[in-house]
Amino acid sequence: MKLNLSTLTVSDALAHMASGDFKSIDLVEALGAAIAVRDGELGAYVSVDLAGARAEAEAADRARAAGKAGRLCGIPIAIKDVLNVRGQPCTCASKILDGYVAPYDATAIARLRAEGAVFLGRTNMDEFAMGGSTENSAIKRTRNPRALDRVPGGSSGGSAAAVAGGLALAALGTDTGGSIRQPAAFCGCVGLKPSYGRVSRYGLTAFASSLDQIGPMTRTVRDAALLQEVLSGADPMDATCVETPVPPYAAQLTEDLRGMTLGVPAEYVVEGMDPAVAQAVQHAVERCRDLGARIVEVKLPHTMFAIATYYIIGTAEASANLARFDGVRYGLRATGATDPLDMYKRTRAAGFGPEVKRRIILGTYVLSSGYHDAYYLKAQKVRTLIRRDFEQAFASCDALLTPCTPTPAFRMGEKTQDPLQMYLGDIFTVTANLAGICGLSVPCGVAPGGLPIGLQILGPAMKEENILRVGHAYEVARGDQWLG
Ligand code: GLN
Repeated sequence: MKLNLSTLTVSDALAHMASGDFKSIDLVEALGAAIAVRDGELGAYVSVDLAGARAEAEAADRARAAGKAGRLCGIPIAIKDVLNVRGQPCTCASKILDGYVAPYDATAIARLRAEGAVFLGRTNMDEFAMGGSTENSAIKRTRNPRALDRVPGGSSGGSAAAVAGGLALAALGTDTGGSIRQPAAFCGCVGLKPSYGRVSRYGLTAFASSLDQIGPMTRTVRDAALLQEVLSGADPMDATCVETPVPPYAAQLTEDLRGMTLGVPAEYVVEGMDPAVAQAVQHAVERCRDLGARIVEVKLPHTMFAIATYYIIGTAEASANLARFDGVRYGLRATGATDPLDMYKRTRAAGFGPEVKRRIILGTYVLSSGYHDAYYLKAQKVRTLIRRDFEQAFASCDALLTPCTPTPAFRMGEKTQDPLQMYLGDIFTVTANLAGICGLSVPCGVAPGGLPIGLQILGPAMKEENILRVGHAYEVARGDQWLG
C-alpha cells in the first residue's frame, strides 16, 4: 500500500496496521526517507534516531503480531527537544545543555512508550521554549512547510513543522503561553494545550512551572484525543498533576454540537489584526451554529492586562528555574575560570542566548526585594482576575471560540529585532495558561498566500472533552480543504 505521509492520520495508521496493510517498520522507513529528502530544507528535527526508531517499530510489530498492541502501537511520534527521553540528548535548543544526555524518561514519554509509540527524533524549538517563532533556537532555523519564507511559529515550531510537513504522524509540544497552539495555527495542524495539572510535567525541562503543560500536535482532532487519553492522568512524580478521571475523549466525539453553548469574547479583537483571521473565525463560528450550537457573546474584561501579567510571571518563574544551569550539574562548563563564581558567570554568559538572558534579567528584576510587590505580586492579583473572567464566562457556556493568533505566520527575521512585537502576538493564547484552562487550535482557513489560520477553542479546566468535541465536529464539517 502506498503511504501518503503528509495526510496519514494516527487513527488511520492504527487501523491499517491492525488489518495488516503495512507495519510500523514500513512507516518508520518511509518517514526516515522523507526526512532525508525534506528536512534539510525544513529543519524540523534537531536529531533523528532512526536506529532507535527501527528497533522500537520492530518491537511494536512483534507485540501486534502477538496480540499485545498498545493504544499507540507502532505510531512514530516526534518529541520537542525539551522533554527527557532516557539515553537521548535533551538540548532545549540551548548551548548550555551541550553534551547532556537524559538519564530517565519524562512521564509523558513513559506513557507513550507503554502504549507502543515509536520515538523518531527530537524537534527544534525556541531556546528553553522562550519565543514564538523558533528563531531563538541556538541550533538551527526551522521553516514553515506551508510557506518556506515564513516562521513555523514557536516555541514548538519543529514539532508543528514535522507534523505539517509530512515528517511525523504526531508530535509532542509544550505550551507555557501558546507554544503548542500558535505553531499549530501557523503550520495548519491541530494543537491541544491541556488544562494545568492534566498531564504530568515530570521530565519536562521547566520554563514557568505554574504555566507549563505538555500536549499533542496532530493532523486531526481525533488524533489529539487519542494521544491525550494516553498522556492524561495523575503521577506521583508531579504533585501538581490532578487525580480527575480521564474520560474516553475519542469515544465521546460527536459530529454535531446540539445542546452546546459556545461563547464569543468581544475582547478577542485587537489592533493590527489581519482581516482574513477575523473573517475565517467568524465563518467558523457560523459553522458551529449550523452544527446546532447556541452562540452567545461573553466578556473577558481583563484580557488587556494578559500580556503584561504573563511576561512578569513567566519571566519570574524562568529566572528561578534556570538558576540550575550553572556549569556544575548539566552540560556546558566554561573553561579558564579563576574561581567558582567566575565559572558560573562564564558558563551562563556563553551558554544562554539573548532572549533567555533578557528573561532571566527581567524575571530577577520583578522578583527583587524593592520591586516584588509592584510587579510580581500585582501580576499575581491580575492573574486571579483573569481566571475569574473565565470562571464567569464558563458559567454560561461550554467553550469559547476565538482566533488563535492575530495574524498568520510572519516572515523569518521580521520580528527578531523587536521582542515587544513578538510578545504582543501572544495575546490570545497566554490567557489560557494564566487561568489554567484548556485550549485547542484547529485550522479554520487560509489567508492570502495560503497561510493557515487557527481557530482557538477554549474550555473550562479539566474539560478537554468539551473542546475536543467542538473541534472534531467543526473539523468534520469543514472537510479537508486546507490540509495536505
Ligand atoms: N511565545 C510565548 C513566549 O515567548 C509562549 C512560549 C511558550 O508557550 N513556551 O513566552
